[in-house]
Amino acid sequence: PPFPEPLPIRRLEQTVINRIAAGEIIHRPASALKELIENSLDAGSTSIRVTIKDGGMKLLSIQDNGCGIRKTDLPILAERFTTSKLSTFADLSRLTTYGFRGEALASISYVAQLSVVSKTKAETCAWKAVYSDGVLTAPKAGATSEPKPCAGNDGTTITVENLFYNTPTRLSALRGSSEEYARILDVVTKYAIHNPHVSFTCRKAGSLSPDVSTPSASTTAQAIRLLYGQTIAKDLMNASISSSTQSSSTPDSDDDNEDSSSWSAEAHFTSPHYQGKKTVMLLFINHRLVDSTRIQKALESIYAGILPKGAAPFIYLSLHIDPRSVDVNVHPTKREVHFLNEEAIIEQISDAMQKKLVEQNQSRSFEYQT
Ligand code: ADP
Ligand code: MG
Repeated sequence: PPFPEPLPIRRLEQTVINRIAAGEIIHRPASALKELIENSLDAGSTSIRVTIKDGGMKLLSIQDNGCGIRKTDLPILAERFTTSKLSTFADLSRLTTYGFRGEALASISYVAQLSVVSKTKAETCAWKAVYSDGVLTAPKAGATSEPKPCAGNDGTTITVENLFYNTPTRLSALRGSSEEYARILDVVTKYAIHNPHVSFTCRKAGSLSPDVSTPSASTTAQAIRLLYGQTIAKDLMNASISSSTQSSSTPDSDDDNEDSSSWSAEAHFTSPHYQGKKTVMLLFINHRLVDSTRIQKALESIYAGILPKGAAPFIYLSLHIDPRSVDVNVHPTKREVHFLNEEAIIEQISDAMQKKLVEQNQSRSFEYQT
């Protein structure tokens, strides 16, 4: 075959670069919502209300009662790499917030119409700003792009409209609106369970009754009951597991820095009485909803020895490890995480859960015998 003629190499335009980057962070409505929920939680909100139209593709709106955004920060809010959460590279290792790289709002503004209404306690009115491609934009022809004063409560409302209107391939890769909505409900449900002190609602626009609604000042167990139902809630066991309860003697652990190897975990998991169809796993590492195939496999294998074939558990696991031992500076879409001493930590959690499950199982067979 003939060699192709070499074509000239050109620099991509900045908006093209940003649109490509945005598509890697915002995969679908639920991934945009996850970023927005994390922002609301970072802002100290105790109430988060989500409204959805057409699976989030037409409209995705989230209202919180957090600290708000200062009016003076609005002009750069949706630029890439603008953040209130990180200033030096060293800060990366002591992060306690979800966000840090200032990419979420920017990304959304490259693939959707983004508008923000926000009010801080110090301000007397709220300010509304509309963004596209990272910068303030006029809401309609002839109007100014400057933020406009408006009525509003303390906190922030972010509205995302016509997601992926300018990236048709992304749009066509999405499932129907009911499947996208199901993914949205899943994200809201999981964050609601992990943040029982925060009231969450999620509803379809125009519908009076929300599909998820939790009170504030609740507990994890109560939230599980409310959102996953009594069948799971009545068979829940829990365990608090931590490095201090074990004699940690991993040969490769860093001894001159005790702190970095200490960890703790809080688990709520179903007893052998509960037999679900498919494993439901909620895993949070340092409050971030993540996936870990290794953790899930390890825990499923404990149940495999206890439950009848085909039956599956519900497991909520919240793991706290030193931020220095997790690499957060991975790509934001990498939900699959890895951390230091992973194997040893998984083993200790598995052992503790197994012990509880076996005890429970023995007391049950004892009940049956007598
Ligand atoms: P990051 O969260 O990584 O900083 P984002 O693009 O998600 O980046 O947000 C940029 C900045 O906008 C945040 O650092 C924060 O200061 C502000 N912000 C975004 N959402 C909210 C919100 N709901 N309440 C208050 N401030 C917000
Ligand atoms: Mg963020």
